[in-house]
Amino acid sequence: MKCGLYPGSFDPFTNGHLDIVKRGSKLFDKLYVCIANNPDKKCYFSVEERIEMIKEACKDIPNVEVVSTSGLVVKKARELNCNAIVRGLRAVTDFEYEFQLAAGYEYIDPEIEMIFLMATEGKGFISSSAVKGFHSSGVDISRLVPPVVVDYFNKKK
Ligand code: ADP
Repeated sequence: MKCGLYPGSFDPFTNGHLDIVKRGSKLFDKLYVCIANNPDKKCYFSVEERIEMIKEACKDIPNVEVVSTSGLVVKKARELNCNAIVRGLRAVTDFEYEFQLAAGYEYIDPEIEMIFLMATEGKGFISSSAVKGFHSSGVDISRLVPPVVVDYFNKKK
């Protein structure tokens, strides 16, 4: 069985992330979406809230499971028997960061392959930070995130 792990902060989960999950889930028997919980990083939504919103947003994709880790993502991938780590690539600006990350992961566990999926046309501009900024300025975010994420923003008010 081939398993992949898609790690990220997902603060919050966006339609850009959902697109990567949908496409990534077709490449594996099972795709784990893994919330990488970095206690030093101040997040808007708690890990529990992010787990719940991703579960709801991905509920129609049968081979997706949501997990979290506060340790190394690459160790989590090994623990779950994943052959590969999936990441998304938006603009050139993502490349530098992702390239370094991939090199670090390879150093830790060279047997786990990195797979990069390019952002779909029209989704490449969506980022969690843009969504938070838009929302705090009163801009409608309903076309940028799954409906459950809009609900979570409304609950925080
Ligand atoms: P991180 O803090 O680990 O970068 P993010 O939640 O910001 O976590 O992103 C997780 C992954 O999803 C990253 O590989 C990022 O490049 C990718 N990603 C984010 N937004 C998009 C998008 N709109 N289209 C494609 N990939 C995306």
